[in-house]
Amino acid sequence: MKRRDFIKKASTGALATGAITLGGKAFAAEPEFKWKMVTTWPKNFPVLGTNANYLTKTIEQMSGGRIRIKVYGAKELVPAFEAFDAVSRGTAQMGHGAAFYWKGKSEATQFFAAIPFGMTAQEVNGWLYHGGGMTLWEELYGRFNLIPTAIGNSGVQMAGWFRKEINSVDDLKGLKMRIPGLGGEVLKRAGGTPVSLPGGEIFTSLQSGAIDATEWVGPYNDLAFGLYKAAKNYYYPGWHEPGTVVETFINKSAFAALPKDLQAIVKHACKDANMDMISEFTAKNNTALNTLVKKHGVKLKPLPDDVLKKLHALSNKVVQEIAEKDAFSSKVYASYSSYQKQVMPWSEVSEYAFMRARKL
Ligand code: CA
Repeated sequence: MKRRDFIKKASTGALATGAITLGGKAFAAEPEFKWKMVTTWPKNFPVLGTNANYLTKTIEQMSGGRIRIKVYGAKELVPAFEAFDAVSRGTAQMGHGAAFYWKGKSEATQFFAAIPFGMTAQEVNGWLYHGGGMTLWEELYGRFNLIPTAIGNSGVQMAGWFRKEINSVDDLKGLKMRIPGLGGEVLKRAGGTPVSLPGGEIFTSLQSGAIDATEWVGPYNDLAFGLYKAAKNYYYPGWHEPGTVVETFINKSAFAALPKDLQAIVKHACKDANMDMISEFTAKNNTALNTLVKKHGVKLKPLPDDVLKKLHALSNKVVQEIAEKDAFSSKVYASYSSYQKQVMPWSEVSEYAFMRARKL
């Protein structure tokens, strides 16, 4: 094999194949692919990390072992925030993360992860699969030699853990809160101080009073972190992350090297993983919320309406500003916001009206 071909094969994960002989007849052996997946989570991290294991196992089973993918937790092969570049250049063939981590590549990435007061899991899946969202996402990542798709969703997150009660907009002033991304920018405009902390430092910072509040994910992940031991006021809803999309990104050349049936297997396994994550979160959040309230005496409270209204108005401004960054971000903003505008009335007469009716 020429050196150039060998290097190409190495980066697409294809293994050399030879002919096999059966009963005197020669058959071309099925090509096999050994891929690497780099993730932005610690290995086996509940739901987010285990989803990577679930996805790769599904692909392996559906392909009868023709694709095998080894999962690397953050730092095992590359640091968490280098996963995008590692897959782009072919060091690994697949990555597992959330698009807002790559905002340094393009502001538009944020529409493919979480938008404050944006769309829910069900609505965002509508946009991605049937509303033009996926085409825009593919166009954006295509510039980096990547193919993106959704492999999970957190559903509506929680607003977070607060040492003191939030009774009015004034209580946000001077509030030091661990809240990353667009939500953090919104808090800043409401007079608070957003703090960026890695997962491992959240608990001690909240307990020592270095921060007044933190958001994390939802009851299942929050319970595992023990955040209820550091603050008792647990507020909802997670206005800043109403349906965070978890993603995979695949090296374009590696994907192109797969036969058509394996390409279909990878794509459909991703859709299956997307459904599995929201199902798992739904089942486990409900159980964990009961434990938090009944066993640990957590005070579960809705954020006051005037606080939500203020955060909503500020969010609209912050999100609109992304559209002003560059032409492509403007295009994605237009698609996202017009889809949201047209889907909301349907959500109101279906999900929202039914949930209200169910409680009458
Ligand atoms: Ca969060």
